[in-house]
Amino acid sequence: MARAMSSPRIVIVGAGFGGIAAAIELRRHGFDNVTILEGAADLGGTWFYNRYPGAACDVPSHLYSFSYEQRRDWSRLCSPQQEILTYLRGVARDHGVTDAIHFSQRVSDCAFDRDGGRWTVRTESGSTHEADALILATGQLSRPFIPSLPGLDRFAGHSFHSARWDHSYDLTGRRVAVVGTGASAVQFVPEVARRAAHLSVFQRTGNWFLPRRNRVYSPLLRAAIRYIPGLQSLRRVWLFEYCESLTVAIRHPRTFGRLVGLRSAAFMRRQLPDPELRRRVWPDYTFGCKRVLFSSQYLPTLSRPNVELITEPIADVTPAGLRTGDGREHEVDCIIWGTGFTATEFVAPMRVRGAHGRPLTEVWRDGAHAHLGMSVPGFPSMFLMYGPNTNTSGGSIIFYLEAQASYIRQALEHLRSGGHRRLEVRPEVEAASDRELQARFAGTAWTGCDSWYRDERGRIVANWPGYMREYMGRTRAFAAADYVFT
Ligand code: NAP
Repeated sequence: MARAMSSPRIVIVGAGFGGIAAAIELRRHGFDNVTILEGAADLGGTWFYNRYPGAACDVPSHLYSFSYEQRRDWSRLCSPQQEILTYLRGVARDHGVTDAIHFSQRVSDCAFDRDGGRWTVRTESGSTHEADALILATGQLSRPFIPSLPGLDRFAGHSFHSARWDHSYDLTGRRVAVVGTGASAVQFVPEVARRAAHLSVFQRTGNWFLPRRNRVYSPLLRAAIRYIPGLQSLRRVWLFEYCESLTVAIRHPRTFGRLVGLRSAAFMRRQLPDPELRRRVWPDYTFGCKRVLFSSQYLPTLSRPNVELITEPIADVTPAGLRTGDGREHEVDCIIWGTGFTATEFVAPMRVRGAHGRPLTEVWRDGAHAHLGMSVPGFPSMFLMYGPNTNTSGGSIIFYLEAQASYIRQALEHLRSGGHRRLEVRPEVEAASDRELQARFAGTAWTGCDSWYRDERGRIVANWPGYMREYMGRTRAFAAADYVFT
């Protein structure tokens, strides 16, 4: 027991930005018994898996990077996938956490043993790890979703999900269908359109757009960022406030939201000169309800002669392609599913059982919830990163992850310094914070449509209802009184 208090064994599941942030924070504060279990053969999480052509972050890199690892050599405002992955690899290496990662170790089960007071974590390959504290950093967007359309197995052509892009399949000269028009699809559709003989884009719901040209930084700007003291920090502050202003628009859809919506509408009108195409693309819900898409390439791509936008719902999949509700069969060689992720299921398909052998899925029967997105009553010394209600529509998730890493570290420091064995959030604290959080969605744009932020009961389980700075404020100091220490 003394060992567990002085040097608790900490298992982190997932080596994406979240898991790496947690490991760095813990190691920096003297927790040296940290193991990261990662299902993939490399670190990076979403940036490891999402390698589709055009993959990039639409959040500026000055913001989409750790506060303690600011770079002055980003190639452009919003970095491509490979640059972000290289950044994360470098950060993990420089902070000495790469050697804590066990690769190709997909976790299947996490069970809390009440008598032993610790977690047993099992992987699909059969290895077992004991932990005094467990951090689940698998994120919200790790499990690709493909709709179970009738006839899905009958398709005789090639198909893959955008997050599992098949780079060995050459799209040149092919007839291609893209299903879905979310943040991923709008990045790869322009790339696919350049190669394919014909591209059919299947849109279920229109989106609001804002410009994103994302040109490579000029040598002058790069030099200025590199050499002018304070310029990098100034850009970060400015971009932070710009992102917060998007949340203002979402929180206040009738006032500020309307203004930003007008800006979006003007941009979309310019990009869509054909009134018929414009009518079909136009969203029918409040600006900001779904994720606003940043692209200056996607809408013009829809006007290309080899691209067709299809808004008729898909009825079924045939051996030759996709059939829409009007009976038309769209014959294609390849279907690319840009249909997103099973975001609201969080840690699934891992089986997580808490103090009384109770499955997390049962506790979350009516929708996922956790105190500050991290702590669930009945799951001692377990923390989630990028858990329920910690997604942001406007900001950078890295701020949330850093805040969570610091909060978890403080919690474990309390445990260690108090000589306790485990901690558990008080059920009434969690219930009250969840009530307050859900109430804050009232009147915001998020409630104005269906989106991946909501579970099947309509509860918004993905997003934080406020600003980045609010979340950072709430999590800055660990509140020991909210927890029971044993
Ligand atoms: P997504 O936003 O969930 O989009 C999925 C798309 O598939 C939507 O257009 C959806 O239509 C459509 N769809 C789903 N089921 C369908 C069905 N049965 N029939 C027809 N269409 C269907 O997924 P995503 O584009 O992969 O993006 C997910 C999230 O990842 C983003 O919101 C964002 O947070 C993140 N992301 C970020 C970046 C970045 O640059 N920062 C880039 C890519 C992704 P409906 O709209 O009608 O549901």
